[in-house]
Amino acid sequence: MIENPARPTGDMSADQFRQRGHELVEWIARYMEGAETYPVLSRVAPGDIRNGLPASAPESGESFDAIMADFDRVLMPGMTHWNHPGFFAYFAITASAPGVLADFLSSALNQQAMLWRTSPAATELEEVALGWLRQLVGLPASFEGVIYDTASMSTLHALTAAREAAVPDVRRLGLAGRSDVPRLRVYCSDQTHSSIDKGVILAGFGHEALRKIPSDESFRMRSDLLIEAIAEDRASGLLPVAAVATIGTTSTTSVDPVSAIADICAAENIWLHVDGAYGGVTAMLPECAQHFAGLARADSFVVNPHKWLFTPFDLSAFFCRRMDVVRQAFSLTPEYLKTPGSGNASAPAAPRNLMDTGVQLGRRFRSLKLWMILRYFGAEGVRDRLRYHIRLARAFASWVDADPDFERLAPTPFSVVCFRANPGVGNWVGSHSWTGIGSGHISCEKCDPPQLLSGRAMAETDLNALNERLLNAVNQTGEVFLSHTVLHGRYTLRLAVGNLKTTERHVGRAWEILRDSLRGL
Ligand code: PLP
Repeated sequence: MIENPARPTGDMSADQFRQRGHELVEWIARYMEGAETYPVLSRVAPGDIRNGLPASAPESGESFDAIMADFDRVLMPGMTHWNHPGFFAYFAITASAPGVLADFLSSALNQQAMLWRTSPAATELEEVALGWLRQLVGLPASFEGVIYDTASMSTLHALTAAREAAVPDVRRLGLAGRSDVPRLRVYCSDQTHSSIDKGVILAGFGHEALRKIPSDESFRMRSDLLIEAIAEDRASGLLPVAAVATIGTTSTTSVDPVSAIADICAAENIWLHVDGAYGGVTAMLPECAQHFAGLARADSFVVNPHKWLFTPFDLSAFFCRRMDVVRQAFSLTPEYLKTPGSGNASAPAAPRNLMDTGVQLGRRFRSLKLWMILRYFGAEGVRDRLRYHIRLARAFASWVDADPDFERLAPTPFSVVCFRANPGVGNWVGSHSWTGIGSGHISCEKCDPPQLLSGRAMAETDLNALNERLLNAVNQTGEVFLSHTVLHGRYTLRLAVGNLKTTERHVGRAWEILRDSLRGL
């Protein structure tokens, strides 16, 4: 007889779980209602959380009350509230209630969908939910989908597939020490997200293989320079393998000319990956169709429902027109994972095993939340919210444009506004045609004799320092949180709308705080 400890499993009983579960749902509902009452940006100092907790695990189990007390006392102050309607930093996101409930269910079910038989429901629901999303974003049925955790992973898989397609026998022989393989090249714009750099590094191309094509004044890749770069590289004996175009870049949400880039990739026979991690969902809006022209000719496309589709982190949707190449790169079935029909993916009854389409073996039941969210909101519900966020951002952009102390630094195609304070700039620009703004020696081209404004103009370095101080002052209020980027050397503030609870009141308050803070500097 094997001795049984006093508590048979050590886990909560069903009744204890019921009680704690109800309490927790109550806690979450109160939090969702009151997210706005917290300072949006956490105010703890580095080390505060670590120092508030014991350095070692307890020898004996503790009560759930004690654990929750520490959660409230130590951890909650260390939360930056991405659910706060005043969260305007990076890309604003939402953990919508159906998504939260789906994650709760998914944890309880603990499905591990590596093989079809280890979770037929998770495997097939992924196909169904991604099929819906594919149709909503207007991709043809030739694109097959798979869910990864993040866009960084989606892009890594795209680049590895591009390598598989371009380099003979690369899966077996790799890249190192091969005299038959020239140095490879991947192209993207100077605005592309750093996940492309990481993907290139991880896929073994070497960081130098990434050639960044300059963007135009609207931060869009210059396709004429892409053509030149490829020709130059071919002439130097390099092997162009892939190009990455972005619909909604991270700094300004600019849109690369996908159609022109698709033409180039087709002519050059290189893989086209389109990064729509943030902007991709707007393919659901007919009025945004111009941004997506040519997308159907891409080899792969990533869109992150955890960015602007109200899905709790994490869920990235990867669509690929050549998933056979992804499988060729990644599928590998050790004996212990063989199931009837495995090893023969083309057999009519062979089920799809999700482990074949990526690095990960084990995978969470992420499709549940995407499916529940799409059902709960409906396509029209999603479109309405996206449009509202775009309208809020455009309203904010119009306030910036109308204020003589602020200026916009990039177009606003979606829901992010890039701007800065430039005290008095509106007065200069209004009736004159100034050159040299920011240099400290501004003159009007139209005035004769030339009119100089050197006394009033702030040099770029001073403007950068001013805007950095402004951002810190705004974020210290705890009411809103904005982040920054640098555009053409200019310190730029970004206001990103994307949370479902954000309304005109919150965007208006952000604008009020910005103007008041500028006066107070
Ligand atoms: N691509 C773009 C355009 C992004 O803005 C981001 C993140 O903000 C990423 C990729 C990376 O996303 P993830 O955090 O899902 O890897």
